[in-house]
Amino acid sequence: TTSLSLEDLTAWLTAFAREVDAQEALLTSLDAAIGDADHGANMVRGTRSVAQSLAAQTPRTASELLLRAGTTLVSSVGGAAGPLYGTFFLRMSREAGAVTELDARGLGAALRAGLEGLVLRGRAEVGDKTLVDALSPAVAAFEGEAAAGGDVAAAAQAAAVAAAAGRDAARMLEARKGRASLLGERSIGHVDPGSASAALLMECLAEAALG
Ligand code: ADP
Ligand code: MG
Ligand code: MG
Repeated sequence: TTSLSLEDLTAWLTAFAREVDAQEALLTSLDAAIGDADHGANMVRGTRSVAQSLAAQTPRTASELLLRAGTTLVSSVGGAAGPLYGTFFLRMSREAGAVTELDARGLGAALRAGLEGLVLRGRAEVGDKTLVDALSPAVAAFEGEAAAGGDVAAAAQAAAVAAAAGRDAARMLEARKGRASLLGERSIGHVDPGSASAALLMECLAEAALG
């Protein structure tokens, strides 16, 4: 796969909604351990709304599609994850532009912009035990694979592997942002719920990029 079409991008976010739905109980139990037990419900509500919106009306550009995802997530997800994931897609939208396909370089640039927006918004850095710990290495791996000449499927696969590794590495960290930070050392040893959902997002991107 050299580039993702609008259908591929729709398949990505539809698969994300399906995966979040399938993993709702897990996401909720992770959040029950170090938060307020609503990450599963928050993400199901948001990703379902996104999938429904894309199914109801087909966007004409990548920018429009990602904008729709971002605004829908901001308005439908309560809690920290809504504005954070929302900002990620809104910034991706601005970077992607009015195109109907994204190649590995274009998608890499959009993912980088999304991550930067999310970091500005949440003020979390790598190591704070948030979804940034999964997304940041994922974006770097995507860019690295793309720079090495890999196509979008190879780049997305590298991103998925890096996101899962980032999620797992953050388990032994102490949370410094979000509700889990209130637990201090007691957050150590638990997987961050946002890192788990972000790893799913990258897994679904890899799946969609395979076509
Ligand atoms: P809430 O904490 O409001 O109930 P969710 O449970 O939906 O919201 O999402 C919690 C996740 O949001 C955390 O696991 C973490 O990954 C992420 N998160 C929380 N605060 C921040 C932040 N300031 N920056 C980045 N990510 C954050
Ligand atoms: Mg929560
Ligand atoms: Mg909450």
